[in-house]
Amino acid sequence: MGSKDSNNASATGDPGQPGPLENTLKEALEKVIKRRESTVVDDETAILSREKSAAAREDAADMREDAADLREDAVHLREGAAQVREGEAQEREVAATSREQEIRAAEPQAISDEHVVKLQQANAHLVIASIEAHILTEQVQTAKDNLEHLVHYDTLTDLPNRTLLQDRLGQAIELAHRQGRQLAVMFMDLDRFKHINDSLGHAVGDLLLQSVAQRLVGCVRHSDTISRQGGDEFVVLLPYIEHAEDAALSAQKLLAALELPHCVDEHTIYIGASIGISIYPDDGQDLETLLKCADSAMYHSKANGRNNYKFFEQSMNVRAIERQSIEGGLRRALERQEFVLHYQPKINLQSGAIVGVEALIRWQHPQRGLILPEQFVPIAEDCGLTQPIGRWVLREACKQAQAWLQAGLPPIVVAINASAPEFHTKDYFKNIRATLEEVHLEPRYLEIELTESVLMRDAAATDAVLHALADLGVKLTVDDFGTGYSSLSYLKKFPINTLKIDQSFVNQMIGNTDDAAIVSAVISMAKSLRLRVIAEGVETPEQAAFLRDRQCDEGQGFHFGRPMAAEAFAALLQSGLSSTHLQ
Ligand code: C2E
Ligand code: MG
Ligand code: MG
Repeated sequence: MGSKDSNNASATGDPGQPGPLENTLKEALEKVIKRRESTVVDDETAILSREKSAAAREDAADMREDAADLREDAVHLREGAAQVREGEAQEREVAATSREQEIRAAEPQAISDEHVVKLQQANAHLVIASIEAHILTEQVQTAKDNLEHLVHYDTLTDLPNRTLLQDRLGQAIELAHRQGRQLAVMFMDLDRFKHINDSLGHAVGDLLLQSVAQRLVGCVRHSDTISRQGGDEFVVLLPYIEHAEDAALSAQKLLAALELPHCVDEHTIYIGASIGISIYPDDGQDLETLLKCADSAMYHSKANGRNNYKFFEQSMNVRAIERQSIEGGLRRALERQEFVLHYQPKINLQSGAIVGVEALIRWQHPQRGLILPEQFVPIAEDCGLTQPIGRWVLREACKQAQAWLQAGLPPIVVAINASAPEFHTKDYFKNIRATLEEVHLEPRYLEIELTESVLMRDAAATDAVLHALADLGVKLTVDDFGTGYSSLSYLKKFPINTLKIDQSFVNQMIGNTDDAAIVSAVISMAKSLRLRVIAEGVETPEQAAFLRDRQCDEGQGFHFGRPMAAEAFAALLQSGLSSTHLQ
């Protein structure tokens, strides 16, 4: 290819090298110039000779012919160059084809190498994917196990939960049925747990539940199941018992285990429990009935003094039905205007004057007669009725206080009680302010009695509401003082006016030196905190005298007057207490 190039430099357009066409043209041009030169010389002589001019014409004709030849040569040369270029193009085509063929020939090797690499990569990915799949499978299995655990175990105590208990109880019933044996179900509810939870907070409550769970697990057989039903309720399944007494022994053991103090988050807490027991097959043939019977028995155990156990009796079913009917009636009692307030006087122990009154709710049931608050207030709390009932009590008491003032009776402070769910509602303060405005009662004539557990539940929020009430001029009293878990530092911080010593201490203070000491100590403490102090449940002149001697400010109790209808109280207020009550 190189030789062909050099031979056809001009034809291929190499600008450096003159090609044959240029050379030929150059030669032809030199010839023409030479002839011209000779023609010029000849011309000079032609002027002289006609012959010479004829010859010159001939030369000119020759020259024209030469030029035509030259042009022809140029055409040939151009044609030759075109052919050369064509040849070159063909050669390039051939070369391209052969290169293509070469590439094609080389391709199979390249493709197979590439495939190997790709296959290796794919293999590596496959290995990684298998490892990942294995890890994922393990994770899924762990998640499944965790889920399985969550489904069957209580997250707080890690005890079997309601679902697992029901599974085991179902199986135990089948087995007992086949073997003709008995089994026991024990329903356990902690006493005053709500109180502890409210006053010490949920975190302490949770730790206490964990501590209780550990104690319980430690005192049953491996084959028994201790489960947590939720809240402070536990159910114990004893799948193999010979006699009902075995269950009684087991219940005693559980109660004894709980009796020792629980040290929780720097608190030493004493907690008891109430247990209800049902026996298969006597009390029920299926798990629902057995659980329901144990639950009923537990309620009776609680009502009978707590920290005790009770076997189910058929009569208990009647009580359960009764509770349901109370719940149903309670929902309609407000609209049917079946609630009524009774008023109990508060006495200044030094002067004997009535200085205040406590409004206490009663339910005038169309069939059952007058029902006391302890029989329905807890039920109202359970079914979310405390707010509407509490609002009714507030309005009614304020209206009554205003009516007494307008009737010209001596001005006194009217106290109402607030339960926890009611006090902790968002609009509690707003509603009190609005009601006072609506009824035109000055806030200084209203007093609110709150138990320690109400005060200690969410202390920060409580503090804000208490300060708002105190700023408004409403008076605040700690009710049942001494039975709860209030912190003394909060007592100092909260804008409290009065401590009301719980009647359980007042009841026993004559004759019981411990209670006498507690009452005396509370009076002194209230004095040093510059709080007023009142004793409730004063039933005898001795009790009244004891309190008066210790400078207790006020007293309330059957000795001074029982809770009574508004009219009766107005009459008492008008006349004042008789001198016998002031002894
Ligand atoms: P509390 O606020 O401590 O009220 C004192 C209770 O002791 C009243 O019982 C009263 O009748 C009774 N009592 C008064 N003096 C004596 C006495 O000398 N001896 C004895 N043994 N008892 C006496 P009641 O009216 O049955 O109320 C019980 C509890 O129900 C109240 O305790 C209070 O916590 C709650 N309660 C009453 N009315 C309301 C209310 O309107 N709303 C709310 N949330 N709770 C209320
Ligand atoms: Mg009270
Ligand atoms: Mg009280």
